[in-house]
Amino acid sequence: MKKLLVLLMIIMAGGNLIMAEDLNQPFAKGELNPYNKFFTGTTHLQMLVTKDDVWNSSIGNVTFDKGARTNWHKHSGGQILLVTAGTGRYQEKGKEIQILKKGDVVKIPPNVEHWHGAAPDSEFAHISIESNLPDNQTTWLEPVTDLEYK
Ligand code: MN
Repeated sequence: MKKLLVLLMIIMAGGNLIMAEDLNQPFAKGELNPYNKFFTGTTHLQMLVTKDDVWNSSIGNVTFDKGARTNWHKHSGGQILLVTAGTGRYQEKGKEIQILKKGDVVKIPPNVEHWHGAAPDSEFAHISIESNLPDNQTTWLEPVTDLEYK
Protein backbone atom coordinates (compact mmCIF):
# COMPACT_ATOMS: atom_id res chain seq x y z
CA MET A 1 0.00 0.00 0.00
CA LYS A 2 2.84 2.38 0.89
CA LYS A 3 4.57 1.59 -2.41
CA LEU A 4 1.37 2.30 -4.32
CA LEU A 5 1.05 5.71 -2.61
CA VAL A 6 4.63 6.64 -3.47
CA LEU A 7 4.05 5.56 -7.06
CA LEU A 8 0.90 7.69 -7.24
CA MET A 9 2.77 10.71 -5.84
CA ILE A 10 5.51 10.30 -8.45
CA ILE A 11 2.95 10.12 -11.26
CA MET A 12 1.13 13.21 -9.97
CA ALA A 13 4.39 15.19 -9.60
CA GLY A 14 5.43 14.15 -13.10
CA GLY A 15 2.11 15.30 -14.51
CA ASN A 16 2.51 18.71 -12.89
CA LEU A 17 6.02 19.06 -14.28
CA ILE A 18 4.79 18.39 -17.81
CA MET A 19 1.95 20.92 -17.41
CA ALA A 20 4.35 23.57 -16.10
CA GLU A 21 6.50 23.25 -19.23
CA ASP A 22 3.65 23.14 -21.72
CA LEU A 23 1.84 26.42 -22.34
CA ASN A 24 -0.26 24.76 -25.06
CA GLN A 25 0.38 27.48 -27.62
CA PRO A 26 -0.20 27.03 -31.37
CA PHE A 27 3.26 28.15 -32.58
CA ALA A 28 6.76 26.92 -31.78
CA LYS A 29 8.39 28.45 -28.68
CA GLY A 30 11.73 28.86 -30.45
CA GLU A 31 15.07 29.70 -28.90
CA LEU A 32 16.10 32.12 -26.13
CA ASN A 33 15.21 35.62 -27.30
CA PRO A 34 18.36 37.41 -28.53
CA TYR A 35 16.77 40.65 -27.27
CA ASN A 36 16.45 39.39 -23.66
CA LYS A 37 18.80 42.17 -22.51
CA PHE A 38 15.87 44.53 -23.15
CA PHE A 39 13.57 42.36 -20.99
CA THR A 40 13.15 41.49 -17.31
CA GLY A 41 13.10 37.70 -16.91
CA THR A 42 13.36 35.11 -19.67
CA THR A 43 11.59 35.06 -23.02
CA HIS A 44 11.80 32.92 -26.15
CA LEU A 45 11.44 34.00 -29.77
CA GLN A 46 10.38 32.06 -32.85
CA MET A 47 10.40 34.16 -36.01
CA LEU A 48 7.47 33.23 -38.28
CA VAL A 49 7.87 35.76 -41.10
CA THR A 50 11.27 37.37 -41.56
CA LYS A 51 11.46 40.87 -42.96
CA ASP A 52 12.16 40.74 -46.69
CA ASP A 53 11.32 42.50 -49.96
CA VAL A 54 8.33 40.31 -50.81
CA TRP A 55 5.96 40.61 -47.82
CA ASN A 56 7.76 43.50 -46.15
CA SER A 57 6.62 42.18 -42.81
CA SER A 58 8.19 40.94 -39.59
CA ILE A 59 6.17 38.52 -37.46
CA GLY A 60 7.42 36.57 -34.46
CA ASN A 61 6.07 34.42 -31.63
CA VAL A 62 7.25 35.63 -28.22
CA THR A 63 6.86 33.40 -25.14
CA PHE A 64 7.31 34.92 -21.67
CA ASP A 65 8.13 33.02 -18.46
CA LYS A 66 5.98 33.95 -15.46
CA GLY A 67 6.71 37.56 -14.49
CA ALA A 68 8.82 38.26 -17.60
CA ARG A 69 8.20 41.50 -19.45
CA THR A 70 9.74 43.90 -21.93
CA ASN A 71 11.44 47.13 -20.91
CA TRP A 72 9.51 50.28 -21.64
CA HIS A 73 9.91 50.88 -25.37
CA LYS A 74 8.31 52.32 -28.51
CA HIS A 75 8.03 51.39 -32.18
CA SER A 76 8.25 54.18 -34.76
CA GLY A 77 5.88 52.24 -37.06
CA GLY A 78 3.67 50.77 -34.33
CA GLN A 79 3.05 47.12 -33.42
CA ILE A 80 0.15 44.66 -33.30
CA LEU A 81 0.01 41.87 -30.68
CA LEU A 82 -2.15 38.75 -31.11
CA VAL A 83 -2.44 36.87 -27.81
CA THR A 84 -2.26 33.09 -28.25
CA ALA A 85 -1.84 31.63 -24.73
CA GLY A 86 -1.62 32.35 -21.01
CA THR A 87 -2.35 35.57 -19.16
CA GLY A 88 -0.41 38.74 -19.82
CA ARG A 89 -0.12 42.44 -19.18
CA TYR A 90 0.01 45.54 -21.39
CA GLN A 91 0.48 49.14 -20.37
CA GLU A 92 0.86 52.44 -22.17
CA LYS A 93 2.70 55.20 -20.30
CA GLY A 94 0.29 57.11 -18.05
CA LYS A 95 -2.55 54.57 -18.43
CA GLU A 96 -3.83 51.60 -16.41
CA ILE A 97 -2.33 48.12 -16.85
CA GLN A 98 -4.53 45.93 -19.08
CA ILE A 99 -4.90 42.18 -18.52
CA LEU A 100 -4.43 40.15 -21.71
CA LYS A 101 -6.06 36.78 -22.51
CA LYS A 102 -5.94 34.39 -25.46
CA GLY A 103 -7.68 35.97 -28.47
CA ASP A 104 -6.98 39.58 -27.49
CA VAL A 105 -5.63 41.97 -30.12
CA VAL A 106 -3.54 44.96 -29.01
CA LYS A 107 -2.96 47.76 -31.53
CA ILE A 108 -0.02 49.90 -30.38
CA PRO A 109 0.20 53.22 -32.25
CA PRO A 110 3.55 54.51 -33.54
CA ASN A 111 5.82 56.14 -30.92
CA VAL A 112 3.60 55.30 -27.92
CA GLU A 113 5.72 54.27 -24.94
CA HIS A 114 4.57 50.91 -23.54
CA TRP A 115 5.52 47.47 -22.23
CA HIS A 116 4.06 43.97 -22.54
CA GLY A 117 4.67 40.71 -20.75
CA ALA A 118 3.40 37.81 -18.66
CA ALA A 119 1.28 37.97 -15.53
CA PRO A 120 3.20 37.24 -12.29
CA ASP A 121 1.61 33.77 -12.04
CA SER A 122 1.26 32.72 -15.69
CA GLU A 123 3.37 32.07 -18.73
CA PHE A 124 2.24 34.06 -21.72
CA ALA A 125 2.61 34.07 -25.50
CA HIS A 126 1.79 36.59 -28.21
CA ILE A 127 2.44 37.03 -31.88
CA SER A 128 4.22 40.33 -32.55
CA ILE A 129 3.61 42.05 -35.88
CA GLU A 130 5.84 44.99 -36.79
CA SER A 131 3.71 47.32 -38.90
CA ASN A 132 4.72 50.00 -41.38
CA LEU A 133 8.00 48.42 -42.41
CA PRO A 134 10.65 49.06 -43.61
CA ASP A 135 11.05 52.18 -41.47
CA ASN A 136 9.76 50.78 -38.17
CA GLN A 137 12.48 51.19 -35.54
CA THR A 138 12.24 50.02 -31.93
CA THR A 139 13.66 52.30 -29.20
CA TRP A 140 14.40 50.43 -25.96
CA LEU A 141 14.07 52.37 -22.69
CA GLU A 142 14.34 51.62 -18.96
CA PRO A 143 13.17 48.35 -17.32
CA VAL A 144 9.65 48.10 -15.87
CA THR A 145 10.28 48.18 -12.11
CA ASP A 146 8.62 45.70 -9.73
CA LEU A 147 6.64 48.64 -8.34
CA GLU A 148 5.26 49.54 -11.79
CA TYR A 149 4.62 45.88 -12.61
CA LYS A 150 2.74 44.87 -9.44
MN1 MN B 1 6.12 46.60 -28.12
